[in-house]
Amino acid sequence: MRIMDYMERYEYEELVFCCDTKVGLNAIIAIHDTTLGPALGGARMWPYQSEEEAVLDVLRLARAMTCKASAAGLNLGGGKAVIIGNPAKDKSIGLFRSLGKFIESLNGRYITTEDVGTTVHDMQHIRSETTHVTGLPLAWGSSGDPSPLTGFGVCQGIKACAKESFGSDSLRGRTVAIQGFGKVGSNLAGYLHNEGANLVVTDINEEAARRAKEESGATLVNSNEIYDVECDIFSPCALGGVLNRQTIPRLKCKIVAGGANNQLQEDEDGDLLQQRGILYAPDYIVNAGGIINLSVELTGYNPELARDQVAEIYKTMERVIALAKSDEISTARIADRLARDRIEEARKVRTIYLKR
Ligand code: NAD
Repeated sequence: MRIMDYMERYEYEELVFCCDTKVGLNAIIAIHDTTLGPALGGARMWPYQSEEEAVLDVLRLARAMTCKASAAGLNLGGGKAVIIGNPAKDKSIGLFRSLGKFIESLNGRYITTEDVGTTVHDMQHIRSETTHVTGLPLAWGSSGDPSPLTGFGVCQGIKACAKESFGSDSLRGRTVAIQGFGKVGSNLAGYLHNEGANLVVTDINEEAARRAKEESGATLVNSNEIYDVECDIFSPCALGGVLNRQTIPRLKCKIVAGGANNQLQEDEDGDLLQQRGILYAPDYIVNAGGIINLSVELTGYNPELARDQVAEIYKTMERVIALAKSDEISTARIADRLARDRIEEARKVRTIYLKR
């Protein structure tokens, strides 16, 4: 992959490589678009097999954050950080402090938070070096782990889709196949369980799978079987790229709606789902609960306000469905259009000198 070509094609602003040998930090920060505001996006820690894989991941994730913030009506841009390493073995206070220094050097253009492989606790170490970090512990007057509200938002999106596909947004007796029982998957499962849904779960981590069975009475399947499960809703809540030419023909569901970022491997995979008669809830529309929660934190945290704003995901999803029907294009393309239009509008605003 030619990085500059890729950045030009999708209009990225900046890609920062961060290296600190003594603490073993190899990280990359991508800032996609700051038209609407500072780039907000989590810091992911993952044992990438190659530098190229990490670069592509951080670029794709940063762009998804731009779309997510824009479609959710937030005045935030899109960014992301990835740390190349194994979260089970390679974490240290120094590693996160060092990343914090690199984030500080960006002077507020990028704000970080937790993501796959990082926790609220890791963010505390980053906070030692920079104020440009959110999702700190509740005891710090912050909003804490965003995952519960992400799970709540995904559940709202699922209900809006159920209303469209089944004529009612009740999930009682519906079967939901969840891929990944981590922070988002487990919170989502809690809401679905309370709604009376039957759950089928897969997780490559045995401990997580065991919890799924204990906490939500889920039926467990192995990670490859999840695509073949007869269900009403398939909910990807692990990693990206899981909806592709190989997996989509295998799905036996009416709805795909989950918390994972970048679920579609290629943009065309959204069309493929539509052609198969499967209603797809665009990932960044329904998993925006976390970023909405964090945006409330940036102006003084109020949990009730955050929850009310996340509940709006139901209406946003209804709007996406209505536009997709009237324009006869996939929900994925409608979501991209909504996100793009808001940024274009902001770019049109006249630039006048404002004294800071
Ligand atoms: P997590 O690390 O807590 O959970 C991910 C889980 O998926 C883990 O239990 C892992 O073992 C499992 N997993 C990984 N690969 C798998 C596979 N092939 N099959 C089955 N299980 C697999 O992370 P998380 O915070 O729950 O995030 C999950 C997804 O949601 C990510 O794509 C993340 O970017 C996205 N997301 C998270 C938030 C949030 O608030 N945490 C917000 C928006 C989007």
